[in-house]
Amino acid sequence: MTACETSGSSAQDPSVAERARMVQTQIAARDVRDERVLAAMRDVPRHLFVPADLRREAYDDRPLSIGYEQTISQPYIVALMTQLAAVKPTDRVLEVGTGSGYQAAVLSTLAAEVYTIELTEPLGQAAAERLTALGYANVRTRIGDGYGGWPDAAPFDAIVVTAAPEHVPGALIDQLKAGGRLVIPVGPTFDTQDLELIEKDADGHIHKRSVAPVRFVPLRRK
Ligand code: SAH
Repeated sequence: MTACETSGSSAQDPSVAERARMVQTQIAARDVRDERVLAAMRDVPRHLFVPADLRREAYDDRPLSIGYEQTISQPYIVALMTQLAAVKPTDRVLEVGTGSGYQAAVLSTLAAEVYTIELTEPLGQAAAERLTALGYANVRTRIGDGYGGWPDAAPFDAIVVTAAPEHVPGALIDQLKAGGRLVIPVGPTFDTQDLELIEKDADGHIHKRSVAPVRFVPLRRK
């Protein structure tokens, strides 16, 4: 597209203004200050990742149902997890729990490559088609069990898990590069979990920090 074309401008697309407001009032107003993350949240059309009957609620400050008893996370949580992942333009990133594909799209604007894996086949298929249609060409999708990570694409600079296991899967630690970050909600099913930032240092040692109480759907066993 040339600079003269205006299909993405706020004059014609009211969602641009909705996203600017979302970022200002829900995300920057809290504790997400990374400018690249804020730009990604302004850029990705969240309303195109939710079911058609929920489009008007896409920029509300809460999670939404995407079917199959799954949810797309609240915008602030997507931004917070993305900031914690500290993704650089050269990074290769794994996401576990593709869902709608929204978090993968946000990550894809910041990374070199995104690999995203989903257990629920119809959700994974729809997300794959959506990501292709919207032009997120650096995202690879797969149907499978995220407990095992994605061994043939490992290691990763960052891993973002968007469903909660009771314990951190060992395969995800193994598939993290030295210097890499794993962002993951950990804790009991259908209760409050702990959002953790797990870093692997240059010597391969693991450092864990508890960031915030969160509520995610469970990372299911196959
Ligand atoms: N990141 C998504 C939201 C994910 S909701 C988005 O941006 O829309 C959590 C997702 O994890 C659900 O789609 C669920 O089906 C999936 N999931 C649950 N257990 C899984 C597993 N073991 N492996 C991969 N995906 C899993």
